[in-house]
Amino acid sequence: MKSKIHQILKSTFGYDEFRNPQEEIINHVMEGKDALVIMPTGGGKSICYQIPALASEGITIVVSPLIALMNDQVINLQEVGVEAATIHSNVPQGDLQEIERKLGNGETKILYLSPEKINSEVTQRYLSTLNIGLIAIDEAHCVSVWGNDFRPDYTQLAKLRRVFPKSAFIALTATADAATQDDICKQLELREPKRFLNSFERKNITTHAHPAQKRLDKIAHILREHTEDSGIIYCLSRKDTEKVASKLNMMGLNAKHYHAGMDGEDRYRVQRAFQNDEIKIICATVAFGMGIDKPNIRFVIHYSMPKNMEAYYQEIGRAGRDGEESVAHMFASWGDFLMLKRFVDGSEGNQEFKRVQYEKLERMWEFASTTDCRTNGILSYFGEYRAENCGHCDNCINPPLKKDGSINAQKVLSAIYRCNQSIGLELIIDVLRGSYKAEIRNRGLDQIKTFGAGRDIDRFTWKNYIIQLINKGIVGIDYSKGSSLIWTPLSAPVLKGEKKIKLADFVPSEKKTKVKKKQAVSVVVDDSLFGRLKAWRLELAREKSVPPYVIFKNSVLEEISSVKPKNNMELLQINGIGDAKLNQYGEDLLQIVGADL
Ligand code: ADP
Ligand code: ZN
Repeated sequence: MKSKIHQILKSTFGYDEFRNPQEEIINHVMEGKDALVIMPTGGGKSICYQIPALASEGITIVVSPLIALMNDQVINLQEVGVEAATIHSNVPQGDLQEIERKLGNGETKILYLSPEKINSEVTQRYLSTLNIGLIAIDEAHCVSVWGNDFRPDYTQLAKLRRVFPKSAFIALTATADAATQDDICKQLELREPKRFLNSFERKNITTHAHPAQKRLDKIAHILREHTEDSGIIYCLSRKDTEKVASKLNMMGLNAKHYHAGMDGEDRYRVQRAFQNDEIKIICATVAFGMGIDKPNIRFVIHYSMPKNMEAYYQEIGRAGRDGEESVAHMFASWGDFLMLKRFVDGSEGNQEFKRVQYEKLERMWEFASTTDCRTNGILSYFGEYRAENCGHCDNCINPPLKKDGSINAQKVLSAIYRCNQSIGLELIIDVLRGSYKAEIRNRGLDQIKTFGAGRDIDRFTWKNYIIQLINKGIVGIDYSKGSSLIWTPLSAPVLKGEKKIKLADFVPSEKKTKVKKKQAVSVVVDDSLFGRLKAWRLELAREKSVPPYVIFKNSVLEEISSVKPKNNMELLQINGIGDAKLNQYGEDLLQIVGADL
């Protein structure tokens, strides 16, 4: 006899097995205990509160900062036959009565609330007339200043624990380092929360980082390999989103921009079109994506380096939520690093806050320029350490060549010393390459002994070498003096030749491509049947004004076209078809498949 939660998993969501550690989490909160859940995007966090909501007596409240995401979740639940509602500032007053009626008579078991709604006393008074079994705080990292998207609204949530003493609390997030995790538990006053940490590794995302030179050409190249796919290009500024989109359009690639400065209607239109697969490429600031629940994003490109690893990992995490192969490409330059540093300089916040932000930025930069396994860099940042390499990052797929770089390091250190440790990276390269530009002549830098000592090496390579030296701690940066390069305690032994060092030469990662991993279950896709199923889904999605994947994910249609189910029983065996979807679509599906038998 299957347990109740297994039955719901199968009959409502159409899945046979829980993913680790969903079952343990569900049982834990159903015993009325608090939990903190850290799971990568796409890991399956929603089910951890949706199944308790369906399996137990009380109502479950889900707090989320994102209206779009709440709306999507409600549509998704309705598609699988579950009554759910949402109350946020955009919900018309007139709808409230009906929502309250259904909550009152137990028809609706799941209620999504924006933080400002649940913080209001009126709402709290109303909610205390109901039996609230579980309160789920999604995107829980927003409660912490250590996290990446701190939201003042979220700090108010601390009071909830006292307002709802009998309910269990579950806080969920995909991004929280150890400090943020502690802070979430503290801020939300969780009661002896059990922490459920899943590996952060996203095995289906292949991670690349590139120097920023000629980035538009490189991006166009990547996009041409993904003509059928949807993806996001993240930019640091609003202006960049417009610039990049327009340049891509000039290159014949259909891209749209998105940022918080556009009016609400335009933003909504772009977002909807993307969600519905009508626009494939979006150039956006970080404003885009928080509310996107699109499972079939195949690529995420960072036009510039993000401000920290949390932001980076969250953003690339939007790729491949459906578990299918996806790529992340980041372009990073020294200029990006300095600009982000200036943002912190000019930001509000006390010294302690700034210190943390600088450190996070440094770690981001190290990640961008590492020659070691990038996935391990991410994992160790979030406190997960392991020795073996991932096999799905550029440095694993195409390891950089390392050779003795002691002489070149000595040239750099000597140039820094002879320039009185008072000039920045770009000028040091000018000195090494023997440039006679005005600034060099005016400052007399063409007179020093190292001038022109590195003519044989191009600018780009020098930059890479110096960045590696910075990462190794052999060259330092004095931020108080315009980011001048300086010596560190590790410099002298290298200059004196007492310590040898290796430097990597970058080879373009396009040279080798990843060998496609064999999928656990090999699915043979009948193209024509799959094509007809997709066409059917698209038509239906237009009729119902929902995104196609809300009806079925690609993987479901793929499985149908390979298994060719002949009756309802066989349809129910397909991963992702539960009772409600069978009732709604079973007949259509059997008919389409039937024509193929
Ligand atoms: P998260 O909120 O952690 O980013 P979701 O809850 O949206 O992730 O789940 C991601 C995808 O994985 C969804 O399509 C969901 O239906 C699917 N999923 C969740 N749990 C399971 C499971 N046990 N078996 C199969 N698919 C699952
Ligand atoms: Zn790797």
